[in-house]
Amino acid sequence: MSGFDPSLPGPTVIDTTTPHPARMYDWFLGGKDNYPVDEEMGRKLVAMDARTPVMARVNRAFMHRVTGRLAAQGVRQFLDIGTGIPTEPNLHQIAQRHSPDARVVYCDNDPIVLAHAEALLRSAPEGVTEYLQADVRDPGTILDAARAVLDLSRPVALSMIALLHFVPDGDGPYDLLRRYMAALPSGSHLVVSHATGDFDPEGARRARELYEARGLSLALRSRAEVTRFFEGLDLVDPGIVLVDQWHPELGERVPGQENGPMPGYVGVGRK
Ligand code: SAH
Repeated sequence: MSGFDPSLPGPTVIDTTTPHPARMYDWFLGGKDNYPVDEEMGRKLVAMDARTPVMARVNRAFMHRVTGRLAAQGVRQFLDIGTGIPTEPNLHQIAQRHSPDARVVYCDNDPIVLAHAEALLRSAPEGVTEYLQADVRDPGTILDAARAVLDLSRPVALSMIALLHFVPDGDGPYDLLRRYMAALPSGSHLVVSHATGDFDPEGARRARELYEARGLSLALRSRAEVTRFFEGLDLVDPGIVLVDQWHPELGERVPGQENGPMPGYVGVGRK
């Protein structure tokens, strides 16, 4: 699409010496785009909580339900930050099932996602998809690039699904959210899913240590802290709930969730 520059600055080298969240997530989902370091870290997390791969699937299933619901309600433009390695169905496939003319901008800061981005670019002919390598902490770059594809005078669904727990408080995630939502018109939506330590503070502490030992940050937030991301927006029914409790009737139940609550909150807000 003319005017869209996917070659904005960002690392292009795939570092196989340290685990990366996108590749660990791919490993949890049974994908092939991960390296031994990712698997090793993945196995450590599974040893701490055997449900970790189920959580990844439950989170992915939330993305399916919420995207389908918004598309069915008429949302035609999506900005998805923290997209992850392509896994079918991808967000645009769900949106374009309802509205073939849906326009989707994907964004992730990990070069492995860029390496596989062609799967994200197979848009229905009536719609458009684009991929941008950028960091959520750089809203100016992301919004400028998004403008080449999306009409920001019309409603957009901004999705940050399993992303914000990688943005520590020191990087100002609440201010970031305000900047993104300020750039979008009334009728736009914010979709968030976020890991929490509310149900197992001790396990959360150990997970954080595991991440930090590998130079990664993990900001598990409480329900109140996740709710704060929606300040100034109207929360859409059923509000901030556990990930598997968000309109379960809209999709299939992921097997393996029997042992206690899935430690992640989700919500949708409307401007
Ligand atoms: N949204 C997808 C993938 C979640 S995994 C899903 O829910 O299925 C989290 C993704 O966020 C990873 O792909 C990781 O590379 C990306 N990510 C982490 N920190 C980021 C940042 N600062 N900017 C952009 N993307 C980031």
